[in-house]
Amino acid sequence: MIIKKVKDEIQNYLADSSNFKGNCEAVYFPQSKSDIIEIVVKANRDKIPITVSGNGTGLAGGRVPLEGNVLATDQLNKIIEINKSDKFAIVQPGVLLRDLQVELENHNLYYPPDPTEQDCYIGGTVATNASGAKTFKYGPTRNFIQELKIVLPDGESLSIKRGKLKAVKNYLELETDNGKKLLLSLPDYKMPAVKNAAGYFCMPDMDAIDLFIGSEGTLGIIYEIKIKLLSKPKSVLSGVIFFDEEKKGLQFISEARDLSRNFTDSGIVALGLEFFDFHSLSFLTSDYPNIPADADCAVWFEQEISTESESELVQNWIDLINNFSGDLENSWIAQNENDRKNFHEFRHAVSWKVNEFIASKNLTKVGTDVAVPDDEFIEFYFDVKSLVSGLGLNFLTYGHFGNSHLHLNMLPENENEHKLAKEIYFKICEKAVKLGGTISAEHGIGKLKREYLLMMYGESAIKQMAELKKQLDPNRILGIGNLFDPEYLK
Ligand SMILES: Cc1cc2nc3c(=O)[nH]c(=O)nc-3n(C[C@H](O)[C@H](O)[C@H](O)COP(=O)(O)OP(=O)(O)OC[C@H]3O[C@@H](n4cnc5c(N)ncnc54)[C@H](O)[C@@H]3O)c2cc1C
Repeated sequence: MIIKKVKDEIQNYLADSSNFKGNCEAVYFPQSKSDIIEIVVKANRDKIPITVSGNGTGLAGGRVPLEGNVLATDQLNKIIEINKSDKFAIVQPGVLLRDLQVELENHNLYYPPDPTEQDCYIGGTVATNASGAKTFKYGPTRNFIQELKIVLPDGESLSIKRGKLKAVKNYLELETDNGKKLLLSLPDYKMPAVKNAAGYFCMPDMDAIDLFIGSEGTLGIIYEIKIKLLSKPKSVLSGVIFFDEEKKGLQFISEARDLSRNFTDSGIVALGLEFFDFHSLSFLTSDYPNIPADADCAVWFEQEISTESESELVQNWIDLINNFSGDLENSWIAQNENDRKNFHEFRHAVSWKVNEFIASKNLTKVGTDVAVPDDEFIEFYFDVKSLVSGLGLNFLTYGHFGNSHLHLNMLPENENEHKLAKEIYFKICEKAVKLGGTISAEHGIGKLKREYLLMMYGESAIKQMAELKKQLDPNRILGIGNLFDPEYLK
């Protein structure tokens, strides 16, 4: 097993895409389950913290170590099986989503979870329960995970198949591969009824596998993943529609969302409904000069097409766009797969450029990941914008508005503006929570969003989460600093 200790060689593992930075002694690169167990047993014995690393595209500092060692999953990168007839794949955690997508396309198969950033590892997406544009139709990564193999912080291993092991009310009994039994007491907080990735997934009678999905490297090291696959759709209708007024774009999304949820005669069932405000479009203009000069916002929509009724469906989308005065003449409608990929890139470019901007200022990302109930969203959106406008702080908004999920990214120029941005961020999170929403719909908590999780669920829930972790990690070695302050583990 390779172990790296030289500063230059481990530098890359000391940050993630949020630009949060940490420190460690060494980075271990296991190549097998037994390598992982060897690392963990030693760390557990010597009480040395371990932080699991995927590919570092996380936006909350989750893979960034505060001390101890990093367990990097880079060399656990095999696609073990692709089963076309039963539509599943078995992969190691270090498989790049991009590589898996290419392999699956060759088999005419399809894996919807796609957090726009394709350079993430499948293990990272499971550990954060990643979402993305297609989550509007298909839900988060969780919905596609059928089985996980995990090494626990004490070196025991575990295999959990979806549907095979459930909690009884708030108690969950796990049995390791060696027959060791663990009776876990689960937190009893109520998760919000919106797209959510904040804290442990806990509910009475839950499936055991859901506890580990989205647990952000704090409960175990995922070393093998079985995912559910779908058949590749015949084609996908894709368009970026420009509007001269923000309200029209927002109402267009609301209507498309309602039509999609209700399976109406229109046949409209969107795959994704993504929004870009005026500031996002301005931010992208130098790279995309064909953005119309008078555009106030844009909506990227997609719909899978698997029937023959394509022309009727296209007409129904056109009618919908016209109903909200979308600028059809200057909008972009994909004519082929290449155009579609370019639209995906266009959406990715805005988040990527924000991260690049933040890194250039040597600050950490201040971008909301809040979601609220659908019927509250438009009012919430304008409230939040008025909170930020007029403060002299540059910002832009975009995101998965089909899921009432807002990324409002502030663009601070210096430490003072960064401090102000963080104060506003807290207020936005408070507003979302008051409305029954969440402070994190997809990026997770990591080390950057702990105070907001505390605000969202309250201290007794955080203590329950810490207690749950201690039951699996009695020596407090794994993913320390993620989700809650390490003080709660004392
Ligand atoms: C430009 C950009 C756009 C993005 N857009 C989206 C988006 O639309 N939706 C979205 O959901 N995310 C988005 N992300 C965030 C990111 O891509 C996801 O969080 C991704 O799932 C992280 O994968 P990773 O391999 O990079 O994990 P890392 O960042 O390396 O790690 C993330 C967390 O997972 C844990 N972890 C990793 N592997 C394992 C394992 N094998 N076992 C246990 N724990 C593990 C780590 O400890 C850490 O806590 C975006 C990121 C960027 C840079």
